[in-house]
Amino acid sequence: MPELPEVETTVRGLRPVLEGRRLTLVEPRRPDLRRPIPVDLRQRLTGATVTTLDRRAKYGLIHTDRNDTLVFHLGMSGRWRVDPDELGTHDHLVLETDAGRQLALNDARRFGSLDLLARDALDGFAGFRGLGPEPLGPGLTAPYLLARFAGRVAPVKLLLLDQRIVAGLGNIYVCEALNLSRILPRAPAGAVGLPALKRLVKAVRTVLEAAIAAGGSTLRDYARPDGELGYFSKQFRVYGREGLPCPCGRGLVERQVDGGRSTFWCRACQR
Ligand SMILES: [Zn+2]
Repeated sequence: MPELPEVETTVRGLRPVLEGRRLTLVEPRRPDLRRPIPVDLRQRLTGATVTTLDRRAKYGLIHTDRNDTLVFHLGMSGRWRVDPDELGTHDHLVLETDAGRQLALNDARRFGSLDLLARDALDGFAGFRGLGPEPLGPGLTAPYLLARFAGRVAPVKLLLLDQRIVAGLGNIYVCEALNLSRILPRAPAGAVGLPALKRLVKAVRTVLEAAIAAGGSTLRDYARPDGELGYFSKQFRVYGREGLPCPCGRGLVERQVDGGRSTFWCRACQR
């Protein structure tokens, strides 16, 4: 499933193709993904010039000079294809630019979404309402987490996955950051002290930035004619590594399932 680094990598990969370019063709190829694709999408975007692209949480934002923003979510399986050799049944939105480039949003499972919003209506978008600070932005600090966790007995891992506390963090990178900062995933959030929270904030940035950097290099390798933006394999510390040595060198990675989600952790170094 695409997490924040994949979305960030996708946005970075789309920028050189889209920024400053006029959209000469906008073709939704089915009426809906997870929810309906706006019926006026083609009309409002055709002929518009893309100004900039951004990411918020796990959404990509494509801003145009008509004051509209196309907001995309990759869901479980979404990816943008750049200059594909041919279009397939899972290519649900096709864009073409005045530079002759073609982009296709491919989403086999259709858990993704496409929304078109006036720029000044973005803050009111349901996906953005109540979101906590960006994990790579200045709002995520140890004192902020200390305040949000105060008095909470819920596991620290669970609260880190709460989008109202931190925006866009998913299971993989929460497991990775807790291991790197040596914090027990099921520790009551309110019992995690400031020094540990400082390690945690640093670890969140480290694991996300490393993943984005790895995605960047994959992009250079694979964003060729039939390139797909969005996914890359990455060597994780603990995620998906049950029974293998933890990087601490003193324990093996364990897996525990709670609430349908796997937690990968090491009892030797996470307390
Ligand atoms: Zn360990």
